[in-house]
Amino acid sequence: MQQTRTVNISTPNKDIVLGPGNFTVIAGPCSLENEEQFRTIASEVQKMGASALRGGIYKLRTNPEAFQGLGTDGYALAKKIRQETGMAFVSEITDPRQISDLYEFVDVFQVGSRNMYNYELLKEIGRTKKPVMLKRSFSATIDEWILATEYIAQGGNENIMLCERGIRTFERKTRNTFDINAIAYVKARTNFPVLADPSHGTGRADLVIPVSLAAIAAGCDGLLVEVHNDPSLAKSDAEQALTLDAFSELMRAIQPYLKIRGSVG
Ligand code: PEP
Ligand code: MN
Repeated sequence: MQQTRTVNISTPNKDIVLGPGNFTVIAGPCSLENEEQFRTIASEVQKMGASALRGGIYKLRTNPEAFQGLGTDGYALAKKIRQETGMAFVSEITDPRQISDLYEFVDVFQVGSRNMYNYELLKEIGRTKKPVMLKRSFSATIDEWILATEYIAQGGNENIMLCERGIRTFERKTRNTFDINAIAYVKARTNFPVLADPSHGTGRADLVIPVSLAAIAAGCDGLLVEVHNDPSLAKSDAEQALTLDAFSELMRAIQPYLKIRGSVG
């Protein structure tokens, strides 16, 4: 059994410590869409107890005609809401050329499922000191996922957290199959904090709460959850977005589980 190390995430306010003794809920929209949407979601999830804010600026979509994120047009909005709320901001980086722009206002670089095998991106991020959340590719074995961390660590950056987000199986009722086994496995055999993403892991808002509870029971150090103030208008991943009320229900539902484990919510 490996001891999980902690990863410090600096924010405009106080730092967050991810790992043992703390349970970190990272919540926000799949994509930044506009000022009203992002501000509303950020301030509401903060009030309900989220400790960090997520939101995609660069989106890797399967369909090239689909919304690709605000890109550079989203920078000012992200900076503004991060400053206003003081929350740590987690956002996906899709290309090493984005590092210098994003470094200033993204507190955790998210490497998405489609880029877990992008070794040049991993190596470049490894040369920085920025905390990085490495999502599992939907087609990666656990060994491939763990080996991908070494591309980051070799450059000197060990501020790594893993995120299980479901794998592709024959099952079509859910978007992915959330791999609970993987949470318990990587917790025991690596020393990185482990997050669970039940939003992509299921693709269905109604399954997010039960799968979150299962992930907590399996030992995860935090959750990454998609929330929208009006999921029917979401430009990406609408089916899996929790409403603000459902997010509040999730925050209530996890408390007894965290208490049993003895981690602070
Ligand atoms: C996301 O977090 O919005 C995302 C695109 O996730 P994944 O890379 O796991 O599909
Ligand atoms: Mn998404």
